[in-house]
Amino acid sequence: MWAGERGGPGSPHGFQLLLRCKTATLPSQSLGQALSQQWRDGTGRGERVKKGILERLNSGEVVIGDGSFVFTLEKRGYVKAGLWTPEAAVEYPEAVRQLHMEYLRAGSNVMQTFTFFAGKDNLESKWKDVNEAACDLAREVAEKGDALVAGGISQTSLYQSQKNKLEIKEIFQQQLEVFTRKNVDFLIAEYFEYCEEAVWAVEVLKESGKPVAATMCIGPEGDMHNLTPGECAVRLVKAGASIVGVNCRFGPEISLATVKLMKEGLEASGLKAYLMVQTLGFHTPDCGKGGFVDLPQYPFGLEPRLATRWDIQKYAREAYNLGVRYIGGCCGFEPYHIRAIAEELAPERGFLPDASEKHGSWGSGLSMHTKPWIRARAQKEYWKNLLPASGRPYFPSLSKPDA
Ligand SMILES: [Zn+2]
Repeated sequence: MWAGERGGPGSPHGFQLLLRCKTATLPSQSLGQALSQQWRDGTGRGERVKKGILERLNSGEVVIGDGSFVFTLEKRGYVKAGLWTPEAAVEYPEAVRQLHMEYLRAGSNVMQTFTFFAGKDNLESKWKDVNEAACDLAREVAEKGDALVAGGISQTSLYQSQKNKLEIKEIFQQQLEVFTRKNVDFLIAEYFEYCEEAVWAVEVLKESGKPVAATMCIGPEGDMHNLTPGECAVRLVKAGASIVGVNCRFGPEISLATVKLMKEGLEASGLKAYLMVQTLGFHTPDCGKGGFVDLPQYPFGLEPRLATRWDIQKYAREAYNLGVRYIGGCCGFEPYHIRAIAEELAPERGFLPDASEKHGSWGSGLSMHTKPWIRARAQKEYWKNLLPASGRPYFPSLSKPDA
């Protein structure tokens, strides 16, 4: 009954299901909810085995990632900016669980463990407890729906200062040992600004035998050693990554431009891999090579740059047209942005997420409004062409990076 089994992109059967969801007078139960239910109570034909990440991608499915964790939990009061470490997995598990739940409901197919910067280098003696708790939370929520668990590692704090390959690989190995014991479904090496360190991460993760995705936090100018995005992608695939792309640091347009360069690099080398993008939820056309961290508003004044749900529908469509089949978000990317991906690509996927029960596609819910000028906004053309105002008449729309 999964999307891939119902036929390829735009299959008539898939579209029928979508229409059925959308035209129901009462949103009694979406397909996603029905499937969630099936996972919960084990109804149907006994135990079902979920399709793995590569099976899904091989069959042409669009995999929707998740969104912001450290940034969002900082705003909610559970993460401290600066270190951006995920102790909340142990200290406030209900906060982490709730955010996972919101992404699942919005349409995410992947629950990434909340293990960003969770190596021994950043967390000292707490690293093990945090990684274990994060795996348990991700698994608990993933089991409530059609989601997989991905164990995530990120760049270390050692690479720039010491560049000690053995020591850095040991940090990755320690995290991998927890992921293996907790039996995550696949692995993601993310947020690497140096290709060399990302390659070490992939080499370690490959030892598990599980599929490995690798995303770098770079823009079109390439990594901090001036390797082009295309060359980075080639090296990551040669190291064993099945899925490559970018996450964080840049907004939708720049992230997609970088993935396009990766795609071209792979094609020129005759290599094959699936493409992945997890953009910021912020617009960053004025970024330098280092991305949004160098903007003067980082990290506490970025709100005026926030992408609308309509911006993210455009992003999802452009990513799809580029051939990217693993689409998600990073810092600033909220559950309603994930829902926007799921809604934009509903014709291809064949169903809407549970959270769409509370959201009429393209503002259609406003057709019930009592004020006629608001009712007039219940249409795609209105929201597609809207120019959002910042409400700040004396403020610049762009700024100059500090570095
Ligand atoms: Zn991020």
